[in-house]
Amino acid sequence: MGNVVIKLGINEITEMRKYYSKQLLEKNPPGSVFSAKTPGCVITAYNSGKVLFQGNDSEKEAGKWGSVDLSAAGVGGGTKKVATSAKGDLPPGISQMSAIGSDEVGTGDFFGPITVVAAYVKKEHIPLLKELGVRDSKDLNDEKIIAIAKVIKDVVPFSLMTLKNDKYNKLQQSGMSQGKMKAILHNQAILNVLEKIAPDQPEAILIDQFVQPSTYFQHLKGQKAIAKENVCFSTKAEGIHLAVAAASILARYAFVQYIDKLSDAAGFKIPKGAGAQVDVAAAKLIVSKGRDILPSFVKLHFANTDKAMALVNKRKF
Ligand code: MN
Repeated sequence: MGNVVIKLGINEITEMRKYYSKQLLEKNPPGSVFSAKTPGCVITAYNSGKVLFQGNDSEKEAGKWGSVDLSAAGVGGGTKKVATSAKGDLPPGISQMSAIGSDEVGTGDFFGPITVVAAYVKKEHIPLLKELGVRDSKDLNDEKIIAIAKVIKDVVPFSLMTLKNDKYNKLQQSGMSQGKMKAILHNQAILNVLEKIAPDQPEAILIDQFVQPSTYFQHLKGQKAIAKENVCFSTKAEGIHLAVAAASILARYAFVQYIDKLSDAAGFKIPKGAGAQVDVAAAKLIVSKGRDILPSFVKLHFANTDKAMALVNKRKF
């Protein structure tokens, strides 16, 4: 169980208190502004500006408000010091701002690419998008997602980045983590949208969080251009701004279309996910087209590759 301490200004602490308003504890330790308890973390903010996060989710929770300074990790008796930063902080009223949102699909699927979409939603368009059914894609089936995507793709400026399997496997084999791939794709998609909408500028850029903000920017070291200004992160960001929900829907649409293309090439329906059904499908593919076809269909480093080969060797599928 880790402890994380970050230092924030009074405005940010006020904002935090609002954010945790439903989880506030009645008893506050001496010298504190508030204490709150989430399922995985106890948060205590002190008058000094120090905020203490305790519990299994302490790093994740602290990441919403400040970025972890890895160089200082370990200092202070096992407590990680965190640099003061607004990067993990969501600006007040973000839901109603003109914002770019970004999200990805396919990272956990054995077959198919990673698709990342950044989408720009102007505040004036928020009611329209709601009307069109844009919301958390986890509440929508593929059929609904396709129908909504077909409409919003002409309403919302967006950029789609598709990391195809061949390229993915090459990068993965060269030692690049999936986290780094995602960071590069998100950054590129966001830069593309910024260019598309210029001279218009978003009031916020919200990335559906998949790593700590500090790690995200570490992944981007060496990139020619890095979108930094107004960039913020949150888990479950689809529920925070419709731009992320729209991005998620468009990313899933692109992913589903790609899987359809792979299905055509395979001659049978390619399943999603990483369960036993993908092992069988991959075995079928290997038998009909040969092992060499695999890198352009799947994420090779998944355990499913060996399972599929085992099925082929046993002729058991
Ligand atoms: Mn996501």
